[in-house]
Amino acid sequence: MKKFLRPFAVPAVLWALGFGLSLLFGACDSSSDTLGDDTPAPTSSLEIPAGTAPSTDIGTNETVSPTDPPTPTATPAPTPTPTPLVVNTDTSTVTFLVNREYPLPDSFVPADLTTPDVLFPFSDTSIDKAKMTPEAGEALARLFDAAYTEAGLTLYGVSAYRSYARQYTIYATNLATRGIAHTNRYSAAPGRSEHQTGLAIDISCASEGYGLEDTFADTPEGIWVSENAHRFGFILRYPKDKEHITGYNYEPWHIRYVGTELAGHLYETGLTLDEYYGAPSTLSAEYLETTPLIDTTAESYLSIYRQYH
Ligand SMILES: [Zn+2]
Repeated sequence: MKKFLRPFAVPAVLWALGFGLSLLFGACDSSSDTLGDDTPAPTSSLEIPAGTAPSTDIGTNETVSPTDPPTPTATPAPTPTPTPLVVNTDTSTVTFLVNREYPLPDSFVPADLTTPDVLFPFSDTSIDKAKMTPEAGEALARLFDAAYTEAGLTLYGVSAYRSYARQYTIYATNLATRGIAHTNRYSAAPGRSEHQTGLAIDISCASEGYGLEDTFADTPEGIWVSENAHRFGFILRYPKDKEHITGYNYEPWHIRYVGTELAGHLYETGLTLDEYYGAPSTLSAEYLETTPLIDTTAESYLSIYRQYH
């Protein structure tokens, strides 16, 4: 079954141009398209948000002559409606959304975290930041292997899984030392980080000193990843010129595993995961410049703040 449910963009009037009802239903059946199928797919999370996918089906009436008179039909053709948008927050899948509006539970820890068989710029690979879910880790190894075998490029994993508590410390430390605006631009609040999913990793290369900088995007490694990551199920989660949608600055080093099907779709359409689910960041730039996303009166924050002041 096709998993992508395309919005049905052909206006009802076009159905009158020579398409009888029997032809209509015959076409739907023979193509095994899910248009008109009222039964929701029980496991697929790949539902295209209404109004965001390209309407590639519009060309289907090309062979109808403009001089052919419309054939009246006794019963108006049904007007299919786009599939309702459902934001996937099911953490048992690989396609779920995490952003400021859709946080993870404090207690969420991915099952079976394991260290992928890839290079890291540090020696102790038993630590949290070397770990991912088994599926994401195996895909990462295939991505890194392909970079080497296809292009002679060596990639390194820099930082993958991060617990809620660790993210709290990072966010709170940034807040205490670098201010609200900088922190919200670059650092996810606890529960809002994709690193807590075990599906995301920051990557780099030797010429970048294994660092996480914008310049990674211009290295052969960064360019190769941007053009090929989707083949292995990864997306560049925070693309350039999408800051107003993701709510974060451009991060060419941060990739997120969503599986090859959705990754390919997002690569082809240029959509971010937030746009795909119709759930862009709604917090204004002004709000993010002035508002901490944790309770700065809590003792847990104040104890970190006092270390620096
Ligand atoms: Zn990251």
